Amino acid sequence: MVAISVEAPKALRILPSATPEAPAPGEVLLRVQRAGICGSDLHILHGSNPFARYPRVIGHEFAGVIEAVGPGVTRFAAGQRVVVDPVVSCGRCYACRVGRSNVCANLQVFGVHRDGGFRSRLAVPEANCIAVPDGLPIEIAALAEPFSIAANVLSRTGIAATDTVLVYGAGTVGLTVLQVARLHGARVLVADPDAARLERALGFGADRVIQSGRESVPDGVAAENDGFGPSLVIDGAGVPALLAEACRVASPAGRIGLLGFSDAPCPVSQQEIVRKELTLAGSRLNRRLLPQVMDWLATGRLRPAPMITQTFAAEDAAAAFALIETDPGRTVKVQLDFSRSP
Ligand code: MN
Repeated sequence: MVAISVEAPKALRILPSATPEAPAPGEVLLRVQRAGICGSDLHILHGSNPFARYPRVIGHEFAGVIEAVGPGVTRFAAGQRVVVDPVVSCGRCYACRVGRSNVCANLQVFGVHRDGGFRSRLAVPEANCIAVPDGLPIEIAALAEPFSIAANVLSRTGIAATDTVLVYGAGTVGLTVLQVARLHGARVLVADPDAARLERALGFGADRVIQSGRESVPDGVAAENDGFGPSLVIDGAGVPALLAEACRVASPAGRIGLLGFSDAPCPVSQQEIVRKELTLAGSRLNRRLLPQVMDWLATGRLRPAPMITQTFAAEDAAAAFALIETDPGRTVKVQLDFSRSP
């Protein structure tokens, strides 16, 4: 049994995991099998996540098998495979009451506000478990949370087959947004400075790619959508300056979805927003969208397998983190295998 803990910023430790917690009422005891490493795990490791407290067992993208259920659990039984929605909300605050549980006033995210899924066993609320259909590999199920980020931003902005979407960033976030937008029949353009990442975006179905830095993105997209520009712009790169550019290139009546978490200010033209009646939407985590994503995964509507570029044994987590840091171009989603760490 292992747990991957950030003891303090920059101090990653592989620890023997504590004796499993008995599941409380309404909770299940999960035996983790697969877990994905996210950019936000790296932020916690580097001390740049404003919500993290230390020491912290990280990990919020995880799936496994239920070993035991606590009192009152009705939807699941031991032996069932589940993926976990890491967003725990109170159900009582204003945001929860209006269906926006991902911005709950008392938000608790596994691996951020409370110890997460990079450990052999943990207890999770039954309400956060989503069944993994028979035949769907557990490593694919563990991708449900990253795809839910894309599902959430596109539900915030709306997405339709009539849209021309410009996605900034061809990293993990950009590639999930690309796939979910294509699933809705939209035309998708991807901008990124890195040619290899753009090649990957083409492999995931991008209609066009634009190498920012070498080509002007505004010039490159100006003729799109009958010359009106993209109807939807998603910033999956989290670069503050892109907000101003997004407002400039978006079509009249366009929408802009923001995923980056920088607190650096960015000047935008109010006139641009009002003249074109743009809609700007922030998007954080996901609003109970894992069941939808699991349905897409189970019915073959996404291309998840090539997203997993490397898998490391849980004990080798330090090497997995080192690879992402030193050679990010080779990685999309790096997963940890806990199934060999009983
Ligand atoms: Mn994630």
